[in-house]
Amino acid sequence: MNRIFNFIINLFYPSRCAFCNKITDKEKVCCEECNSKINGVKSITTVLNNTFCVSPFPYCSIYRDAIINFKFNGKIQNAETLSLYMLKAIREYYNDDKFDYVTAVPLSKNQRIERGFNQSEILARKISEYLNIPYKECLVKIKDNEPQHSLNSNLRKQNVKGVYKTANQDITNLRILLIDDIVTTGCTLEECTRILKKSKNQVMCCAFCKTQ
Ligand SMILES: [Zn+2]
Repeated sequence: MNRIFNFIINLFYPSRCAFCNKITDKEKVCCEECNSKINGVKSITTVLNNTFCVSPFPYCSIYRDAIINFKFNGKIQNAETLSLYMLKAIREYYNDDKFDYVTAVPLSKNQRIERGFNQSEILARKISEYLNIPYKECLVKIKDNEPQHSLNSNLRKQNVKGVYKTANQDITNLRILLIDDIVTTGCTLEECTRILKKSKNQVMCCAFCKTQ
């Protein structure tokens, strides 16, 4: 399925830099100019006791453009580059930590139909390929809520309460790498982590961008 998808993408879209959209070498992760600008300042967000989220980039400039174009403007092929930078941050921050599964912050059924895809799942599946660790749907979103970015920080925590649950009873005693696209206050990751920890799982998180 993935291979057919990649084939179609490559057929219709030449390789473009994920950050500035210039046509670039297929083998290159991004163009020379962006490559010289990128400075990998990782940031760490505390999600919950002993659970952290590593992000390779801040949510600004070319990094913001890359994730916005991926999420909202149909540049699905950006996932390749974005996930490679996430992979680098994961390897550096979590060292030799071994994960049982890679998973993503889920969308609700309605959100998924509306967008057509879950951006975090696409990133998580790429990362799972690179790490050679299986992707597993560990969480489901059972309720629609307001988009977190539309709310002030006081309401965000409340907004995610009760909207997630574990996907199966067998999601227990696992080491889970949880992927998100953008981390802001960390309320979504916190709630997902809380649910997973209730079933005795260990959780480590990574998001492409961290808002400042
Ligand atoms: Zn570029």
